[in-house]
Amino acid sequence: MRKKIIAGNWKMNKNLSESINLVSEIKKNLPENLNADVLVCPPFTSLETVHSMIKDTPVKLGAQNMYFEDSGAFTGEISANMLKSVGCEFVILGHSERRHIFGESDEMINKKIKQAVKNGLNPVFCVGETLNERENGRAFEVIEDQITKGLTGISEDEFSNVVIAYEPVWAIGTGKTASPEQAQEIHKFIRELISKMYSTSSAENVRILYGGSVKPNNAASLLNENDIDGALVGGACLQAESFVQIIEAAG
Ligand code: PEP
Repeated sequence: MRKKIIAGNWKMNKNLSESINLVSEIKKNLPENLNADVLVCPPFTSLETVHSMIKDTPVKLGAQNMYFEDSGAFTGEISANMLKSVGCEFVILGHSERRHIFGESDEMINKKIKQAVKNGLNPVFCVGETLNERENGRAFEVIEDQITKGLTGISEDEFSNVVIAYEPVWAIGTGKTASPEQAQEIHKFIRELISKMYSTSSAENVRILYGGSVKPNNAASLLNENDIDGALVGGACLQAESFVQIIEAAG
């Protein structure tokens, strides 16, 4: 049985004191019998402090990005080793905002995934089609292309540390959620693709999260689908109350 993951992507929100407040509230309100893995991904400036607040709780820490080189003259970038040194276990890679606003290519994302797994970080590898691609009937093709390119050269052993997040670009931050059926269809497709690329056991074990306007009122119906193993939550993770409600929806 795959354990669900509820991950909060804070994006460029919450300064240090706001981060402390949010994490205190999440901790206070976490369900006692937690059945899901809970992951918070604050901005870089809050990682260390948040880590010190959650280290004795089941909540895990992730970063929102990293660079693929070990160190050097890469002004403004952060390495895998730096993330590990402040307690990160996960890192979001290939988020559509990185792809579309910052021009990250599949090749760059692939290098980042390789670097993350080499350094013992679990990548949350995001893929998703735009509205135009969906309307032109290209959603499956785009997802297959992103996954194939993103995972090039990743061994089956390394892949066991990868979490995939399906995030249709048209549903991120727009209030438009994919219906549970639309999301399930793509998640099933991704699992079949992983089975072809690796093995049926890798396909059965990989956790595939849905992201795109997940809210307390739609989380349960999405999370009930067979191939949806959790949620990557943006807007609704910025308030402890709604984030905890989504955690509760995971069972
Ligand atoms: C995200 O950024 O990963 C996301 C899913 O955002 P939102 O929940 O706000 O759509």
